[in-house]
Amino acid sequence: MNVEKTGGRLFGSGRCSSLAGPPGAAPMVHRMVEAMSQLQEEKARLQEELAALQERLALRDSDQQATSTQLQNQVENLKEKLISQAQEVSRLRSELGGTDLEKHRDLLMVENERLRQEMRRFEAELQELRAKPVAPCTGCEHSQESAQLRDKLSQLQLEVVENKGMLSELNLEVQQKTDRLAEVELRLKDCLAEKAQEEERLSRRLRDSHETIASLRAQSPPIKYVIKTVEVESSKTKQALSESQARNQHLQEQVAMQRQVLKEMEQQLQSSHQLTAQLRAQIAMYESELERAHGQMLEEMQSLEEDKNRAIEEAFARAQVEMKAVHENLAGVRTNLLTLQPALRTLTNDYNGLKRQVRGFPLLLQEALKSVKAEIGQAIEEVNSNNQELLRKYRRELQLRKKCHNELVRLKGNIRVIARVRPVTKEDGEGPEATNAVTFDADDDSIIHLLHKGKPVSFELDKVFSPRASQQDVFQEVQALITSCIDGFNVCIFAYGQTGAGKTYTMEGTPENPGINQRALQLLFSEVQEKASDWDYTITVSAAEIYNEVLRDLLGQEPQEKLEIRLCPDGSGQLYVPGLTEFRVQSVEDINKVFEFGHTNRTTEFTNLNEHSSRSHALLIVTVRGVDCSTGLRTTGKLNLVDLAGSERVGKSGAEGSRLREAQHINKSLSALGDVIAALRSRQGHVPFRNSKLTYLLQDSLSGDSKTLMVVQVSPVEKNTSETLYSLKFAERVRSVELGPGSRRAELGSWSSQEHLEWEPACQTPQPSARAHSAPSSGTTSRPGSIRRKLQPLGKSRPVPV
Ligand code: ADP
Ligand code: MG
Repeated sequence: MNVEKTGGRLFGSGRCSSLAGPPGAAPMVHRMVEAMSQLQEEKARLQEELAALQERLALRDSDQQATSTQLQNQVENLKEKLISQAQEVSRLRSELGGTDLEKHRDLLMVENERLRQEMRRFEAELQELRAKPVAPCTGCEHSQESAQLRDKLSQLQLEVVENKGMLSELNLEVQQKTDRLAEVELRLKDCLAEKAQEEERLSRRLRDSHETIASLRAQSPPIKYVIKTVEVESSKTKQALSESQARNQHLQEQVAMQRQVLKEMEQQLQSSHQLTAQLRAQIAMYESELERAHGQMLEEMQSLEEDKNRAIEEAFARAQVEMKAVHENLAGVRTNLLTLQPALRTLTNDYNGLKRQVRGFPLLLQEALKSVKAEIGQAIEEVNSNNQELLRKYRRELQLRKKCHNELVRLKGNIRVIARVRPVTKEDGEGPEATNAVTFDADDDSIIHLLHKGKPVSFELDKVFSPRASQQDVFQEVQALITSCIDGFNVCIFAYGQTGAGKTYTMEGTPENPGINQRALQLLFSEVQEKASDWDYTITVSAAEIYNEVLRDLLGQEPQEKLEIRLCPDGSGQLYVPGLTEFRVQSVEDINKVFEFGHTNRTTEFTNLNEHSSRSHALLIVTVRGVDCSTGLRTTGKLNLVDLAGSERVGKSGAEGSRLREAQHINKSLSALGDVIAALRSRQGHVPFRNSKLTYLLQDSLSGDSKTLMVVQVSPVEKNTSETLYSLKFAERVRSVELGPGSRRAELGSWSSQEHLEWEPACQTPQPSARAHSAPSSGTTSRPGSIRRKLQPLGKSRPVPV
C-alpha cells in the first residue's frame, strides 16, 4: 500500500511539470501525444511489473511467514523433546539413582558384616576345638560335635550360594540399568543430530533469503526502493530469527547441562561398579578364608578322629591287661574267699555282738557324759579355788615385795646421795686448767678422789658414777625410787652442782639420750600398764620454775604470772598451788609435747636461757594416782624431779645488782634445802620448810615416808676443783647425817647451824683414806668437832651445806 502511494505522488508531480510547458505546434503536439502514449504504455508496463513484483513480494512475505511459523513449530517440538528428555533423565535418575545404588551397597555391606561375624564365630569354635585337650575317646561327643559342625558348614555353604545368587541378581539389575542408560544416551544423541540438521537447514534457508534479497537489490532503482522497503519489513523477521536463535542457544545450554548430569550419573554408576567389584573381591576373600577354615577344621577333625581311635586302642589294650590282672586277682580272691568264709562267720558273730553293744551305747554315753561333766565341774571348781588361792598368794607376795622394796629403800636410806662426774668436754678448754683432777677407786664405786691444789681428798657417797657411766646406768640407780612412787610414796630427786657440771644433762639429757625425767615417765607408763588389770592409774605432769624466790608455771598460758603456795582449805594440812597447770599424760609422745611446751615457754620468756636456767630451779612434778579395782583403795605418789640452780659461789666483790640478788636467792634456797634435809634426818620437831619457796613447795615430798635422792654433779677439770670440793662436801654431809640414831643425834648439834658459812676444804691435812675420813665407823663423835674447827667464815654468797 505504501509503495502505491509513494509511486502515485512521484509520477503526479512529474506530469504537472510537463503540462506547464508552452503551447506549440501540431507536430510538437503529436510528438508529445506519442510520447505520452509511449509513456502511458511504459507506465502500464511498469505498473504490471510492479504488480508482479508486489505479488512476488507478497509471496515472499507469506513464504517468510511460513518459514518463521515452521521454525517456531520446530522450536516448540525441540522444546517438547527436551522436556521429555529431561523427564526421561529424571525418571532414569530415580530408577538408577545414587540412593538405590547406595541401598544396594548398604545391603551388601550388611551382608558382608553378617558373613564376617559368622566367620569369626566359626573361627572361635575352631579355636575352642583346638584348645580342647585331645583326650582319649570317652564316647561319641567328637562325632556329635563334628556332625554339628558339618551341619553348620553346609548351612554356611547354602548361605554362600544364596549370597552369590543375590549378587548375580544385583549384577543383572546393574547391567539392565546400564543398558537403559546407553539407550537414553543414544536417544539424546539422535535428538542432538536432528537439532543440528534443523539448524543446518534453517541457516541454509536464511542464506537463500539473503541471496534473494541481494539479487533483488541488484535490480533497478525503483526496485531498490522496493527492496529497501522489503529490507525494512524483513527486519522484523530477522528479529524473530534472532530470538529463535537465542532460544536455540538456551536450549543448547540446557542440553549441555543435561549432558553434565548424565556424565555425573555415569561417574556414580562407575563408582558403584567399583564398589560392587570391591565387595565381590571381599566376598571372594571371605569364601577363600571360609574354605581355608573349613579345611583346617576338617584337618583338625581328622586328627581328633585319629587321636580318638588311638586312645580307644590304647584304652582297649590297657583294659585287656587290667582285665587279665583282675581275672588273676579274682581267682586269688576266690581262693581267699574260700578260706575266709569261716573267719567271716566269726566276724559276723562279732558284728552282731557289737551291734547289740552299740544299741546300748547311747545310754552308756549319756552316763559317761554325766560323770565326765560332774568331774569337769569339780575340776573347774578346784581350779577356781586354786586361782583364788594363787591370787591371794600373789597379793601377799605383792605386799611383801612392796615391804621388801620399802625396806631396801629404807636400808639404803631415805636420803641418798650419789655423785656423777661428767667427762672433760671441749668447753673445758686446754692446758693445765683443763687437766683431770678426779680419780676413782677401782674396788669401791662409792669412793671419789679429788686432787685439789696438789692435795688428794677422798669422799665416800652412796655411789659414784665415773664419766663413763651412761644415762641408763644412772637411771638404774634411781629406778627403785621411781617405782615406789606408784605405791604411793613421794619422791624427790635433785641435781646439785656448779653450773656446767652436768645437772641438766642428767635430768633432761638430750633428745637422742634422754635423762632421768623422760626415762622415769617411761618407766611409770610401763609399770602402770603392767598393773592395769588390777589398778587404774592416772599420771599427770606439772612443770614450774623458781627464780629469785618467785614461782612460775612453765606449762601455763601466762608463764609470767607469780604463783603462790597455799594450804588446802580442807584442813588436811596438804599444800597446793592454785593455778598450776596439770597435764594428764598417757604416752611418751604426750610427755615430749609437755616438755616442748615448757621449753618454749621458758625460751620466749628469757633471752639468755642458759644463763637463766643456771640461776633458777626447774621442777618437773609427776603425780601418780591409782585406784585398786578390786578393793577401791586409792594411792597418790608424787615424783619431784628438780634441776637446781648452779651452786657455784659468786665472787665476794664481783657481783652487783641483779646478779647479786640472784646469787642471794640461790644461796638462800640451797641453804634452806640443806637445812630442811638436816632437820628431817635429825627428826627435829620443826622443819623449816617455809624458809624458801623450793622447800615449801616440796614440803609434802620431803617429809614423812618420802624418799630423796641427791645427784651431785661434778666437773672433773683442774680449774673447777674448788667448786667440786664444796659440792662433794655438801654431798658427804648430807649423807653422813644418815647414820644410826645415836650418831645422828650426835651430829645434830654440828649441823643445825643455819649460818651461811663458807667451808674450808675438810681435808686440808690429807687423810690416808676417804673411808677413814667419812665412814660412819670412823668416830663420828669427834668428827663434827674437828670439821667445825676447820670451818672458816669466807662469805655469805655460798649455799651452806647441811
Ligand atoms: P648444768 O646443767 O649443770 O649447768 P649441763 O648439763 O648443761 O650442766 O652440762 C654442761 C655440758 O656438759 C653440756 O654440754 C653437756 O652436754 C655436757 N655434759 C654434762 N654431763 C655429761 C655427760 N655425763 N656426758 C657427756 N656430756 C655431758
Ligand atoms: Mg643446767
